Amino acid sequence: MVFSFARRMLTEPDPRVLAKFVYNFGVKGMLSVERFKKRIKKGEYFPPFLFISVTSGCQLRCQGCWVDVDRPAQSLSLEALNKLVSDAKKHGNHFFGILGGEPFLHPKLLDLFEAHPDCYFQVFTNGHLINDALAARLRELGNVTPLISVEGTELVSDERRGRLKVFSKSVAGIEACARNKIIFGVATSVCQSNIGDLVTESWVRRLIGMGVHYVWFHTYRVVGPKPNGQLALRPEQVLAVRRFIVETRKKLPIAIVDAYWDDKGEALCPMATGVSHHISPYGDIEPCPIIQFARESIHDRDSIYEIMTQSGYLRDFREASAGATRGCVVLERPDLVKELVTRHGARDTTQRGTALAELDAMVPRHSQYNPDNPIPEEHWAYRFAKKHWFFGFGAYT
Ligand code: SF4
Repeated sequence: MVFSFARRMLTEPDPRVLAKFVYNFGVKGMLSVERFKKRIKKGEYFPPFLFISVTSGCQLRCQGCWVDVDRPAQSLSLEALNKLVSDAKKHGNHFFGILGGEPFLHPKLLDLFEAHPDCYFQVFTNGHLINDALAARLRELGNVTPLISVEGTELVSDERRGRLKVFSKSVAGIEACARNKIIFGVATSVCQSNIGDLVTESWVRRLIGMGVHYVWFHTYRVVGPKPNGQLALRPEQVLAVRRFIVETRKKLPIAIVDAYWDDKGEALCPMATGVSHHISPYGDIEPCPIIQFARESIHDRDSIYEIMTQSGYLRDFREASAGATRGCVVLERPDLVKELVTRHGARDTTQRGTALAELDAMVPRHSQYNPDNPIPEEHWAYRFAKKHWFFGFGAYT
């Protein structure tokens, strides 16, 4: 697998794009985690991976979406984004996850990428705005990887995402990325309506055939104003997704990302470990994208580093979540999330103002945590990478 994947990476993307990926994401990403490890030894928690929702606007209306897509779109200004990224860079961060809504709807997004050629940006997008002109610009910039979400085959995609021709428009975005020799991935939030079609070897082989370089399987989060609980996976299905990921990593020339398990196959939560936190489209500093409550905002002070390292709210969320589960505290313990929000007097960060009612309506569910059934990494490269740069970071003692 390693040689065939290396051959793909050495022959498919533009060599300059590959070089930026290896250095800005690979080398600098690893160094930022090493700095994070040193910081937390001193009790200073500033995540090496910041996830920033640059806008709440989106063309789609997905089941389980927690973003205020039905409200007037709000976006972070380029000035606020530049300040945020520049301060984070001072502390060794060079990788940023860019979320929405649909990030490419943000009119100044490419200016942000251009302003920080020494960084690497992963854009979580539905791909509908990626045409040859945009993909060619991303190639010039070299420091951006689109991660295009595909939530099902044609019919399922339209139902899951509340619009028509969703799948074919995402595929058009995928094809534009491949034609323009950039590095890109496909993400799926695995649920009842797509697990049979997309968690399969034939689908992953199809992605390889379309020139996709990495695939990310999340598991569906039953949250937001339209949570659609019927889509949630059963425990044995989450295990099946984990097993598929581990098996396929050994077999096929494509990288497979997950953010839920360490090298031993034990579950973890990126928020509880402190490895990532989230900035909302309004500038609120949230424990993670689906915990839409905040005490602090990037607009409070110039330094995001100072705000985050001094936040009792974030610290309490990390520690209480890690104390309660190695899985997703939102799915498993919505009561604890409410208790923490109430204890800190955190405000509802949504325009719709119904986040607390949504929390009240949630029933505890299974997540990635299945202590009796750990499935360890079987491929040496993933075992090594997770062992050193993606594990519990001492959160789960
Ligand atoms: S709380 Fe749940 S959704 Fe948030 S980072 Fe943790 S596992 Fe992911």
